[in-house]
Order: sequence, then C-alpha cells, then structure tokens
Amino acid sequence: NKIAIAIDGPAAAGKSTVAKLVAEQMGYIYVDTGAMYRAITYVTIKNNISPDNSSAILNELKKSDITLTKEFDVFINGENVTDEIRSNEVTQLVSKIASIPEVRKEMVQRQQQLVRNRGIVMDGRDIGTHVIPDAEVKIFLIASVDERAIRRHSENKNKGIPSDVEKLKIEIAQRDKQDMERVTSPLKKAEDAIEIDTTQLSIKDVVNQIIKIVEQ
Ligand code: C5P
Repeated sequence: NKIAIAIDGPAAAGKSTVAKLVAEQMGYIYVDTGAMYRAITYVTIKNNISPDNSSAILNELKKSDITLTKEFDVFINGENVTDEIRSNEVTQLVSKIASIPEVRKEMVQRQQQLVRNRGIVMDGRDIGTHVIPDAEVKIFLIASVDERAIRRHSENKNKGIPSDVEKLKIEIAQRDKQDMERVTSPLKKAEDAIEIDTTQLSIKDVVNQIIKIVEQ
C-alpha cells in the first residue's frame, strides 16, 4: 500500500538529498516544493518585477507552468532553470516571495494535486502541517547551523560555486528566521512528525532511519 511521506525542516538540513534516496528505495515520486518557490522567484527577478509587487508576482505565477521531472530537472514555462534557481540571488530572495500568502495558496493547491496519488515523498517547510496534513509518515529533519553551513559549503565547492562558510551561516539563519516568522504556513514541526537531528549522522543513517519508520 503506497503512502505519502512528508519531510520538513530548516534550510540545508539535507531534506532533498535524503528525500530523493528514500523515494528511490521505495519506488516513489519525489517532489521538491522549494524548487517551485525558487522557480517563481527566478521569474520575478528575470522579469524585473519588484518583490513587493505581490499582485504582479501572483499574476506571473498563475500563467506559469512549473514542471519537476523524474531526473530532478526544473522547468518553468518550458525553460530549464535547474541551475539558475540555485543562484545566490534566488536563494536570498526566495523566502520573501514564499511569504506572500496568495503565492503559497496557489503553490499548495498545485502540490496537493500531485499528492492525489500516494507513492510520493515531498519535502519543504509546511508539508506535514499544511500540504499533506494526513501524510502517513512525517519527518522533521534538523541539524546545527554550523553543520548545515559546512555541508552546503562542500556542496558548493564540488559544483565549483564560490562559497564562504561564515556567509552561509548568516544566510541560512536569516532564511530560517524568515520561514519561521511568516504568517501563512510557517516552518514548523507538525505535532505528529518524528524529529531526526542529522548533525552527527551520515546520509545513509538518516535514510535507513526513515525507511525503518515507514516499515513500522
Ligand atoms: O528547500 P529550499 O531551501 O530549496 O527552499 C527554498 C525556500 O522556499 C525556503 O527557504 C522557503 O522560504 C521556501 N519554501 C517554503 N515552503 C516550502 C518549501 C520551500 O516556503 N514548502
């Protein structure tokens, strides 16, 4: 019997890495909801829309088709933006765009369409609390800010992206603060979510723990 697995947590806690592997092991679909918020943020920047112009951003979103492929590529209106949505510019603006209530409403609707079929691992900030409140398994991944910054730093280095650990710590902490303080579906552990602190754990350990929880 196929289920829905919700994986939430703060920035750079390893959600997408772990979620992809869990989905692969289960033969499930993986949905990265952060990529959807990043995609509309990318379009906002590209079209020179002011981040304060909520109605223009919503308008843009309504006419934007966002597609996440099986290969984890991200398309917006046919444009492959897989790399572009990870830029510093997008990362710095995304939490502001994601705090617009109408943008969230539209995104949550689209995400819920995808969940109609079980057999899905979805990661984000509000999946267990708002998008799939009836998910059979809810995980909340955390790790210290230092550890998260170090992990993101080595990811960046591997990709050849310029990177500074101290700047990453500040950026990650700021994004968490914005995500926790917003009014509409803030970053929050669902009451029935299982928290896993990954600071001292390997990716494999975390994946195995989640698979165990799923199999219970
Ligand atoms: O997961 P990722 O770090 O790529 O998400 C980027 C940003 O998108 C988050 O910092 C948050 O502001 C927003 N987001 C959200 N709700 C989600 C997923 C992401 O608000 N479900």
